Amino acid sequence: MKASEIARIVNGKLIGEDLQVNSFEFDSRKCGKGSLFIALKGNRDGHDFINDAFEKGAVGALASKKHTVPAVPAGKFLVLVEDTLKGFSKIASQKRKGFKGTAIAVTGSVGKTTTKELLSHFLSKRLSVYFNTKSYNNLIGVSYTLSNLPNNAEVYVQELGTNKKGEIKELTEIVKPDIAVVTYVGKAHTENFGSFKEIVEEKLSITESAEIAVVPYEFREYSRGKKTITFGKMGYISLQSVKLSPEGTEFILKIKDGKEKFFTPIPGYSVVNATMVAAAIALEMDIPLKELKEAVLSFQPPEMRMNVLKLKGTTVINDAYNANPISMANAIKVLSTYSGKKIAVLGEMLELDNAEEEHRKLGELLKEHRIDTVIATGENAAAILETFNGEAYHFVDRKEFLNFIKRYEFSNATVLVKGSRANRLEEVVEILKKRY
Ligand code: ATP
Ligand code: MG
Repeated sequence: MKASEIARIVNGKLIGEDLQVNSFEFDSRKCGKGSLFIALKGNRDGHDFINDAFEKGAVGALASKKHTVPAVPAGKFLVLVEDTLKGFSKIASQKRKGFKGTAIAVTGSVGKTTTKELLSHFLSKRLSVYFNTKSYNNLIGVSYTLSNLPNNAEVYVQELGTNKKGEIKELTEIVKPDIAVVTYVGKAHTENFGSFKEIVEEKLSITESAEIAVVPYEFREYSRGKKTITFGKMGYISLQSVKLSPEGTEFILKIKDGKEKFFTPIPGYSVVNATMVAAAIALEMDIPLKELKEAVLSFQPPEMRMNVLKLKGTTVINDAYNANPISMANAIKVLSTYSGKKIAVLGEMLELDNAEEEHRKLGELLKEHRIDTVIATGENAAAILETFNGEAYHFVDRKEFLNFIKRYEFSNATVLVKGSRANRLEEVVEILKKRY
């Protein structure tokens, strides 16, 4: 894209030379030759980093009219707009218009990243697939991913997240998915949403103008896709049986009229669910299920999600990326399949509106699954100990908690490490790696 074209798309004012842009960045440290730096307001204001971006090789910057901006050096340009994030999303929308391949969007209360990654892994065996990195699933993440869409992509897979009502609709209008996927909708009430029905409607708004919607059977009435494929315990693709073990999960799906057996080395239900979605897409795209089976078998878990580390002295299940009631239940079920001592090192579940009750339920669940020891941190996690009756420790202070982890005897046990992102429990995993 040329600077003048960008100025036209964002309805902005071009100052400086009309140069060619070949990538879009909002982190000045990532800028390289030919980047356009988008100055966004985050914890720190991107406008303070425009010169840094130029030094890194950026050819131009998208900046707000309201800010004082540096003088434009020779060989650089600025595009000034009212709102830089809106401008960024307009660039993304323009890119989408030029994309003639298949766009797949994925949302849900849980399993978005896992499903996005499995679909990408599976489809890339025969197609050129482009997908968002990490969990880039909000307006910034979507704008970033889409604006950098390569010309040769045949499939584009994008995860969509929501923290407030209307967000999925807004993102869906940018991504315009041909295939819209809802992985799962959890019962737990969460902050910023009303009833469960409103949560379901929010998630299912991803199907608004999709050719094909892939949704859990129980929410099929809410689908607005031209065609809807259902999956779950019932549905067009249905789960017949699941066998959890420490080595992974074996499961049988009924697909059309046949039954197909799959195996994933990633323990738990996340890949089971994602495979049902992938099977629906395989049928639509006429890809043999044999290829899906191979993809499921060779699929590696995304970082910090049910990563099993067999250390010399102990086994660690690193699920430290995030936590909510659904993924907690999944991880605890997996932990319970191990023999020997089972220890759960847990942070808290954040963004819940009934946090105390959910943590008490978590304590019950740990008791039911005969987990031996709970070591918990975070204020909300205190309620776990009200219902769990095994060996238990709770720390509000992070330093005290980490010191305890450095001393406690974890030899020959299986240790689940899981908590909300803010708990940063990957530090526990690092300590265990050093010790064992
Ligand atoms: P975020 O909103 O944090 O981006 P996400 O929706 O992308 O989350 P993942 O990162 O794929 O979700 O998975 C988060 C956690 O939930 C992991 O611990 C994973 O193992 C678990 N999980 C994923 N799918 C399921 C499922 N269908 N059932 C139970 N647990 C699941
Ligand atoms: Mg995610």
